[in-house]
This record gives sequence, C-alpha cells and structure tokens, in this order.
Amino acid sequence: MPVPLPTATTRWRCTLCGNLTRFDVTRASKVVEYVHLDLAGEPKVEEREVLSETIESVRCRWCNAVDQVELVDRPGADS
Ligand SMILES: [Zn+2]
Repeated sequence: MPVPLPTATTRWRCTLCGNLTRFDVTRASKVVEYVHLDLAGEPKVEEREVLSETIESVRCRWCNAVDQVELVDRPGADS
C-alpha cells in the first residue's frame, strides 16, 4: 500500500490511533555528497544533492502501525 505524501496543506494522521506528530519514516534516496577531508583524513560532507527520494514506509511512533496513515488538512488550511 503506497504511502500518501503530505502537501503544503495536508499532514499525516495515523488511522488507528490519531497520532499527528510522530512517525518513523523509512526513506530510500540517491544522493551525491561532496566529501571534504581534512589533512588528518577526517571526512566531512559539505554538500548533499538529492537525486531521487522515495518513502518506503511510515510507522506510527505511538501504536507501531505501519503504513496506516491518511492525509488530513493542516490546521488553518482553507478547504
Ligand atoms: Zn498510531
């Protein structure tokens, strides 16, 4: 079951327990990182460009339901 993506006017809501604020999101992404190493060889990522990103699953932090989210309007959204 695909996870609906939130928009500028909508947010996730767990359909089982009503949680609106805490989720564990499993995300697959392909990124290009600019790795800058200092003279001691310690790497630091200074830039990160996301080429593609897919949300694989969303788990509710309250009841552990997986992919049981729906979209609801954000507070103050006109619709
Ligand atoms: Zn829940």
